[in-house]
Amino acid sequence: MSRVGHGLPMLAGMSRAELEQWAQEQGEPVFRGRQLADWVFHRLELDPRQMTNLPHSLRELAATVLVAPAGRVTAVDAAEDGTEKLLVRLADGQSVEMVLIPAEARMTFCLSTQVGCPVRCRFCASGAEGLVRNLQAGEIIEELVFGARRIGRLPDNVVFMGIGEGLLNLEELLRAIESMVSPDGFGMSPRRLTVSTSGIVPGIRRLAEFGRELTLAVSLHAVNDELRARLIPDGFRYPVCEILAAVDEYRERAGRMVTLEYTLLDGVNDSPADARELARISREHHAKINLIPYNATDTAFRRPPRRVLETFFRTVEQCGGRVTMRQERGSSRTAACGQLRRRHAAGSEDVLSGGE
Ligand code: SF4
Repeated sequence: MSRVGHGLPMLAGMSRAELEQWAQEQGEPVFRGRQLADWVFHRLELDPRQMTNLPHSLRELAATVLVAPAGRVTAVDAAEDGTEKLLVRLADGQSVEMVLIPAEARMTFCLSTQVGCPVRCRFCASGAEGLVRNLQAGEIIEELVFGARRIGRLPDNVVFMGIGEGLLNLEELLRAIESMVSPDGFGMSPRRLTVSTSGIVPGIRRLAEFGRELTLAVSLHAVNDELRARLIPDGFRYPVCEILAAVDEYRERAGRMVTLEYTLLDGVNDSPADARELARISREHHAKINLIPYNATDTAFRRPPRRVLETFFRTVEQCGGRVTMRQERGSSRTAACGQLRRRHAAGSEDVLSGGE
């Protein structure tokens, strides 16, 4: 159970069974817990005072002893293409970002799993300051609910590709995922949830054991260890061969083809030889390659020219790799992950509250 502040439980972090037990501990019948759960999971309501079919006394009690909600949306940055980036301020004053991405009548939410990130990839704004703290499951769920209230429904897809390395906060991430996919929770299809990782091998193996048909995206970014060492510091970097072995294990156990994410950096990992090697990896490990043209931040890396991007794509394709190039979304000035948070790090006026 997620707890914030003075150790009070977070409503968003409680399962249906925990809410039923909580109701009974307050001397209420078990169905009151079910009603609470229905408000959260079906009606996307986190404020007990709005749960009109509960007795007034229980609403007041729940509003007092359960933290609901713990966070709030304090800034929104909208791009011309409809993408919206939300800044979520947490109970302790820290903040994370989430992104709402509309595409072809589908809505994808990109959620954060940590405040900051311990991996500190050298091309990433989110990792620049290292890890501040892990998010609790309830805080991850609140991101989902804040976004869902904004569009009036649950998203079609969720990708855990915001700030943080989810597989280094695995137990809380798995709790949040269980709540999202459980028929007793939000009831989303596990196939519509994508867990992204920078290649944390023990985490990939644990995810394979978890037994849900989640989509897995592994950020490879380089085809050999020497090049990868230039992009990802030592602390949490695993050898490419171990990552690919874990990818094979995940594909076999979860029955899901894995996507290898590859951020293209000018003059670093964008040569024809890199493309041919990437195609070989795709073929031998039955993996999809998703090319991501670098979205420049204030790092030393640059995005390759358009003709280099096109040549790289064609080379992977012609060498038998399954390849896509990520469509760019949210190309406003704060599009790169971590930038909205950094811009508002010194505090900001609330423009929205309570996930509205
Ligand atoms: S790219 Fe992902 S894993 Fe790497 S520092 Fe950024 S958030 Fe962390």
